[in-house]
Amino acid sequence: MVGQGSCSVRGLIARAGVKIAVVFGLGAIAACNGTRPTGPSERPNVLLITVETLRADHVGSYGYRRNTTPNLDRLAAQGARFENTLAQAPFTLPSIASLMTGRTPPGHGVRNHPAILAPELETLAERFRAAGYQTAAMTRHTWLRRKSGLDQGFDEYHNNKFSAGLDARSLSLAAVDWLDARDPERPFFLWLHFLDPHLPYTPSYPYSALFREEHADEPRVQHLRSMVEREHDTFEPTPYADIPGGPYYDLVFPHYPDNEALLDLAFWRRSRGSIFFGGKRYSADTVSELRELYDGAITYTDDNLARIMKSLADLGVETSTVVAVTGDHGEAFGEHGLYFTHDFALYDEVLRVPLVLRYPDSIPPGTEVSQQVRLMDLAPTLLELADVELGPLEQSDAVSLVPLVKGGTLPFLNAFAESAPRRSMFPEHERVYFDGNRGKWRMLRTERWKLIRIPHPDGDLYELYDLVSDPGETQNLFHELPGEAGKLVPLLESWMQQDPARDLDNSAEEDAELEGLDPAAVQQLRTLGYIQ
Ligand SMILES: [Zn+2]
Repeated sequence: MVGQGSCSVRGLIARAGVKIAVVFGLGAIAACNGTRPTGPSERPNVLLITVETLRADHVGSYGYRRNTTPNLDRLAAQGARFENTLAQAPFTLPSIASLMTGRTPPGHGVRNHPAILAPELETLAERFRAAGYQTAAMTRHTWLRRKSGLDQGFDEYHNNKFSAGLDARSLSLAAVDWLDARDPERPFFLWLHFLDPHLPYTPSYPYSALFREEHADEPRVQHLRSMVEREHDTFEPTPYADIPGGPYYDLVFPHYPDNEALLDLAFWRRSRGSIFFGGKRYSADTVSELRELYDGAITYTDDNLARIMKSLADLGVETSTVVAVTGDHGEAFGEHGLYFTHDFALYDEVLRVPLVLRYPDSIPPGTEVSQQVRLMDLAPTLLELADVELGPLEQSDAVSLVPLVKGGTLPFLNAFAESAPRRSMFPEHERVYFDGNRGKWRMLRTERWKLIRIPHPDGDLYELYDLVSDPGETQNLFHELPGEAGKLVPLLESWMQQDPARDLDNSAEEDAELEGLDPAAVQQLRTLGYIQ
């Protein structure tokens, strides 16, 4: 461990962030507005919930064949559901940094795990605090630790108890305690990040067997099923939401005795790269069983979401609280050669997340938005719903989505995203050819097309997909449709040209920062598959 080295890395990254900000014409952000309250108001509370690794198409109200998320679906029915929401990066820290700043990764400078958000950048929490809100964040994810710089603007930032445990239960209980103890005279901004759907996909029983037909007649599975499927308008967690979260290897393995991938992920019997990029060795049944477990972890999270929604109702703030629920990115289960991971590609299974907003004051129930939006657009949206000034976020890349939930229109919003290369740590990835920023894939998603650029020593490789006729992104049309490609490449290039660090090989800095992690953080990162 070389903890001392991390300060200089932090400084380097912070300075790089400033430089990027200036190039982006954001010099004014240096003058942060401090914490001067704007005076008493009738502003709503804002509760932001992000669920780790939650792909949109595994959410019930997004057309999934399983009833994984009855509570999120109920919330959507009471407010707005955005059908096409794209993350700006397929991995946690850059994606959350985009949400918090309204900028794409080149704009906020957080390009990898780990990295540090420059203090000069204005965040959503800083805007709320400046408007007199009490602000708090709760997460157990190592990458979202205080040192990431995401703590900016939070009066309280709870990320100090790393453990292998995922545990939506403890997070939801802590949130309920916080809501009970807060100052009821001031509005709050509370951000919760649930971790449970991340690998190793070992939720507690009976969630682990909830979607396993062979175990459907077990009494506790039957009971949980009946409770999940009951019809009601209010939020009530099942008794099983009180079971601590996993990873529960001992309880999961007996239900999946022959699942080779589960054992590989639990004990890292193979190198991470040989699992993530070489998973073709697993049978379709093996992969499908891991989806069952992933779905069980989603339902466990959803059940604990009910606990928080019930608390809002019990406290009488259900209608005076803006609730936003989304994911930080998706997950691949064999699509495009990626297994049980997300960082390394830019296809929809790793970028498309659910987004649900409820605020009865402004959003009619049952609102459906099909137009493409970006996760980063949530920052100005939440501020506008709360009538808080955008301040420096006015110069961000994001657009408030409020017109879309009030029956209005917005111009089409192109989505850009970039991947994590991590070539040095994942030599098995056959399609990352350079280290650092230089090796990143970049993506543009328009109303109909997706263009992906993959840097290659012999010239960049491109993929072009027609999302209307080929939503699974299986047919690369780049060479067949030179007309379309010719229109889209300059758009992607112009986004990249704004990024002075686009060809930087910063992998050494990233690796140095990794070495500075404490043992508890290392243990969690090992469980989650980030280090061997
Ligand atoms: Zn994540």
